[in-house]
Amino acid sequence: MTPARQNQPAGPRVVIVGGGFAGLACCRALRGTDTRVTMVDRQNHHLFQPLLYQVATAAMSPANVAAPIRKIVGRWKNVSVALGEATAVDPNARTLRVDDRDFPYDFLVLACGMTHAYFGHDSWAEHAPGLKTVDDALEIRRRILLAFETAELNDDEEARKAELTFVVVGGGPTGVEMAGAIKEIAAESIPRDFKRVDTRSARVVLLEGGDRLLAAYPPNLSERAREDLVSLGVEVRLETIATDIDADGVTLEHAGTSERINSRCVIWAAGLKAEPIGVSLGVETDPSGRVRVNHDLSIPGHPNVFVVGDQMGYDDPETGDPVPGVAQGAIQSGRFVGELIARQVRDSETRRRTFHYRDKGMMATIGRARAVARIGKMTFAGFPAWAMWSLVHIAFLIGFRNRLLAMIEWAGLYVFWSRGARLITGPRRRRP
Ligand SMILES: Cc1cc2nc3c(=O)[nH]c(=O)nc-3n(C[C@H](O)[C@H](O)[C@H](O)COP(=O)(O)OP(=O)(O)OC[C@H]3O[C@@H](n4cnc5c(N)ncnc54)[C@H](O)[C@@H]3O)c2cc1C
Repeated sequence: MTPARQNQPAGPRVVIVGGGFAGLACCRALRGTDTRVTMVDRQNHHLFQPLLYQVATAAMSPANVAAPIRKIVGRWKNVSVALGEATAVDPNARTLRVDDRDFPYDFLVLACGMTHAYFGHDSWAEHAPGLKTVDDALEIRRRILLAFETAELNDDEEARKAELTFVVVGGGPTGVEMAGAIKEIAAESIPRDFKRVDTRSARVVLLEGGDRLLAAYPPNLSERAREDLVSLGVEVRLETIATDIDADGVTLEHAGTSERINSRCVIWAAGLKAEPIGVSLGVETDPSGRVRVNHDLSIPGHPNVFVVGDQMGYDDPETGDPVPGVAQGAIQSGRFVGELIARQVRDSETRRRTFHYRDKGMMATIGRARAVARIGKMTFAGFPAWAMWSLVHIAFLIGFRNRLLAMIEWAGLYVFWSRGARLITGPRRRRP
């Protein structure tokens, strides 16, 4: 039998749950320190979620937006990886339950992010998948591409219309990106490939409960996003909520009036809640399940347990604003805690600092060469915003290969409207 490799130095045990932006930033700050870090994740890969909609809309392959966690941390000698689902924390015993094992820790960092929330309508999940994981993206891609295939073979006009109606629920960045991309697939990427059905006639409806899209953005960018979507041919319905979703479509309500849209492809981009493991900490959570943390991002009563990234509920003491659920919030908070632990290991008397979020701006794409962006107080739209969006996303993708492939895919999309990942995987569920 090969002896176990002894490549981990001695030192306090740090367990990080979640290999997303926050967990990785924390781990990176701890590499090479006198700690024994274990990175736990139920997936074997880090996922670049901002580009997930490109997988769901066949512009990129899943491997181009993900990287194996083991490969990322492989060269960091004090870091090991455990593939498993963390289910509970016992802060008093200082153990974390992962599948059927207990992991003892000296420091614990929860960086588990968020999952879909259907606001008490869990049965909608089956009919309206959300976008959070590679599996979600492949399922959405399957449904979108199958809708065109089924429409091609359907002679019944009403059924064909329903096949070619796509409803996206939720007008945040993901909803806006999905709606724009689906319309572009139908209108530009595939019309020549279908002989019986005119895919350009596909109807894409974007539902938003509030009075504008991209509620977290300045109002002028919300309006620009709406105009761009409308010019692409997307029906934008503001102040409209889904009241029921089933296998045949969506019932919606606007100004007290109910309406039914028959659709075979509904996509959920309306709500998220924190991963449930935070509840086992036994401390206060906000209505979205985020764990309320102290100024050093530890939890009340347990200075060695931290929550970072999307899973944490924290209002910046300087601005009073909650840290938004974006990649920058995750990276900054993860790095902050990693550095804090490293300092504490060097000097246990060290004074803990207060976490401040640095807002670097926000951006969302609407389609080819269309995007909106805010950097500081400046706002951008159209091609300049799209160019910025592309550069930023390529810079933050992990791995040279992924960056190169993203550039090639986007060049193809820009010049030829080509979507090279048009594969239908999984069951070929077709209705009679
Ligand atoms: C579709 C989409 C588009 C987005 N677009 C943008 C964008 O354009 N710009 C932007 O800034 N932000 C964007 N975001 C938000 C951004 O991706 C998140 O803010 C960021 O990923 C949060 O990082 P995190 O590390 O906190 O969580 P995540 O990145 O979600 O990582 C959490 C990790 O924890 C693991 N995990 C969860 N629970 C457990 C458990 N119990 N046991 C073991 N492992 C577990 C998960 O597998 C995952 O790897 C987008 C999000 C989505 C879903």
